[in-house]
Amino acid sequence: MTRFFKNSILAGAIFCSFKLLVVSAAVPESPQQKFIRVAVLRHVDKLNIEIRGRYEISDPKTQDILLQGRRFRRTSIAASPGGINIGQVEYPLDQVKLVSNKDVTVHIGKKDKRFRGAIDIFKEKDGRLLVINTVELEDYIRGILYHEVSHRWPLEVFKVQAIAARTYALYRMERSAKQKYDVTNDIYSQVYGGRSAERYRSNLAVDQTKGLVMFYNKKILPAYFHATCGGTTEDVSELWKLDLPPLKGNICEFCKKSPHYRWKKNFRSKDIQEKLNAHGHAIGLIQEIAVLERNASGRIRRLQIKDRSGQVLTVAGKDFREIVGPNVLKSNNYEIVMQGYYFDAYGRGWGHGVGLCQWGAYGMALKKYSYSEILQYYYPGIAIVDYQSPEFADSSFAQPKPLPAE
Ligand SMILES: [Zn+2]
Repeated sequence: MTRFFKNSILAGAIFCSFKLLVVSAAVPESPQQKFIRVAVLRHVDKLNIEIRGRYEISDPKTQDILLQGRRFRRTSIAASPGGINIGQVEYPLDQVKLVSNKDVTVHIGKKDKRFRGAIDIFKEKDGRLLVINTVELEDYIRGILYHEVSHRWPLEVFKVQAIAARTYALYRMERSAKQKYDVTNDIYSQVYGGRSAERYRSNLAVDQTKGLVMFYNKKILPAYFHATCGGTTEDVSELWKLDLPPLKGNICEFCKKSPHYRWKKNFRSKDIQEKLNAHGHAIGLIQEIAVLERNASGRIRRLQIKDRSGQVLTVAGKDFREIVGPNVLKSNNYEIVMQGYYFDAYGRGWGHGVGLCQWGAYGMALKKYSYSEILQYYYPGIAIVDYQSPEFADSSFAQPKPLPAE
């Protein structure tokens, strides 16, 4: 405690002359610049941080500077009963902010990742830490492209993905203004690797499409995308409470090269029964799974599961995929062949199927379609606009009306 206050008084005195030297990473340089808040770690007890440049660690509520200097050597930051420990010193706070003119390296377990921008560390109600990287939107897109597009693919696919990812990120941002963060860095958002995940070609695609996003009817498009549609993209209204002409689904003849275009997977009925039981569905040992209804894209709307006692359960196809595991049951478009205590699923595609088919974009780029032609194909009727242009700031584009909840 004592040391904390001494530090902040001392630091506050020095700070007046020092302030101008530090690049304050979270303050927009122009009104058009946008910053996204990415939850890079959740529910952790401690992490190690290192900054090879000038830094400042502060209490964002009072603006008190806790620590600052020219280099922050690898130090543990941990949740403690009375607040947050930085090294050996306990600060009676539930939030600290780190800014630097260089990258911030976060070590967790054996991995380390470098992040541009500012890092906020919150001590949450569960007594554990939430780590948020606030980063300029263009830099965020640099940090996710590498995970979304194979490095062997044409540059045009990187451009397509940069625009789709940027659009989707803006869509998330306008919906999460009241929350602590806009996106996470796991598979449920877009995998974000920070500066560590940046590559030459992905950065080139971000620069060459700088600021470009998709609008439909003067609103930011919920630009969903997926790995492989398997022949037909999905109508978004089958999955979420959204009904938009660019997301009604389309024939795709371009993803046949995908290893997920057709797949086969064997399942043990007992495993599936246990997963259904764990999700509150009372069903015994499975005798048969039959498709009751498919939608216009061929994906399964309803399944019927019969157990050996004759009990019948009806479950939505999209729910069944979530229960089995979306990476195990790759898509919601398959045939089932029962094999005694096992069954085989013969499927098409990987992912929910809405919007851009990434392997299809690759197929189109090989046939020399441009990024705008590819985007128009998967999101028909959209307009590609620059969110950093004055038009965006001055028109209704700046405040798109929120879409209905998903
Ligand atoms: Zn496709």
